[in-house]
Amino acid sequence: TRTPLIAGNWKMNKTHLEAQALVEDLNDALTDHDFDAVDVAVLPPFVDIRTVQTVLDAAKSSIGLGAQDISQHESGAYTGEVSAAMLKALNVTFAAIGHSERRQYHGEDEAITNAKVKAALGAGITPILCVGEPLEVRQAGTHVQHTLDQVRGGLEGLSGDQVADTVIAYEPVWAIGTGEVATPEDAQEVCGAIRGLLSDLHGDDVASRVRVLYGGSVKSSNVADIMAKDDIDGALVGGASLKADEFAALAGNA
Ligand code: 13P
Repeated sequence: TRTPLIAGNWKMNKTHLEAQALVEDLNDALTDHDFDAVDVAVLPPFVDIRTVQTVLDAAKSSIGLGAQDISQHESGAYTGEVSAAMLKALNVTFAAIGHSERRQYHGEDEAITNAKVKAALGAGITPILCVGEPLEVRQAGTHVQHTLDQVRGGLEGLSGDQVADTVIAYEPVWAIGTGEVATPEDAQEVCGAIRGLLSDLHGDDVASRVRVLYGGSVKSSNVADIMAKDDIDGALVGGASLKADEFAALAGNA
């Protein structure tokens, strides 16, 4: 009963004019897409969001709009930050939180991801909490533990209903942008463990409502094998979301 979600994280790519062209092309490429069966969303850079929103609005598109980050603060003296209310005013419905690149380059830890998850939920924005282990943790064999700690920390203090409204994206760092996709079995091992943790914390009903995505070198050619696994409800896509035809094909194969 979980509707799969395919979300395109554009990362730091596309000027607002390039973003306009990409989302127009994507909307055209998805003309025959069954949005009741598979949700599709794009996460452009902040400065592109207004432009993308305008295109999606004018086209009455079913493509969802997300941000790549969100401030943990409500408003005020936080230079360079973008608030949940500002995003909400642009019809943003998703926000990625704690992407591994933000953890690695911007020092985001569990306290910060937890505060950002709460800020998003408080504004009616669905958090996409990103978790996953770096290579050395995978090699040490503690990847499940590592990832579950990130989930536990990111969701601390949330009610069951709030958790049910959250999306979790398992993105092993060694698979991001490397072309080295996790095997479906490796992805399922961790996504299944995440759902098991959610069940321990909030019960089976909540756990069964949470969408758990996989991310890391997902393409139109490998998405179906990954999503065939029980606990994988879609994908968070980087590189393959930057070309309209490829991303539409990926959504079609999901
Ligand atoms: P790639 O699909 O480019 O590996 O990126 C994955 C990712 O980090 C999505 O958030």
